[in-house]
Amino acid sequence: MLTSLGVAAVPVRHAKEISDVSGLIIPGGESTVMDKLSRLFGLAEPIKAAIAAGLPVYGTCAGLIMLADRVLDSIDGQQTLGGLDVTVRRNAFGSQLDSFETDLDIPEMGEPAVHAVFIRAPVVESVGELVTIVSALDDGRIVAVQQGNLLGTSFHPEITGETRFHERFITMVEDAHFR
Ligand code: GLN
Repeated sequence: MLTSLGVAAVPVRHAKEISDVSGLIIPGGESTVMDKLSRLFGLAEPIKAAIAAGLPVYGTCAGLIMLADRVLDSIDGQQTLGGLDVTVRRNAFGSQLDSFETDLDIPEMGEPAVHAVFIRAPVVESVGELVTIVSALDDGRIVAVQQGNLLGTSFHPEITGETRFHERFITMVEDAHFR
């Protein structure tokens, strides 16, 4: 996705690689596993420190969970990197079978509506006062948020070729001048 938008992208798998990037995307997957492995391989603390220092980070789905300060329906002992003053609920729509796609009208992103894919997705149940709600479903459930240099979406824009969230994130990275 980043490459198609003209940005150099590298995988970050080791702690020392954190200091090479000016922005980080934490993708979808499984937050419980990401949590365990990021602590086991010594990635969690350097990423937390980078977030505290202002590294722009975009979390999609499990990545949003990793950025959340508080998680409901977590597993025992599950930790997050934190930084986003939000409470998320894991698997808020049910099991894999309850995954779905929908269109989100986000006026600041213009036309057409954002086609969003939710795969065992979390929702944001509550936000702190510094958090901007970027998008919510028709029933009011919050599915995209931003707080400073942290962006999070419950859904996967990349699956449908939707580029606007990644473009927004690239602008955040450019504006942050983190490195
Ligand atoms: N349900 C997963 C979790 O709890 C997230 C799923 C996803 O990233 N598509 O981490």
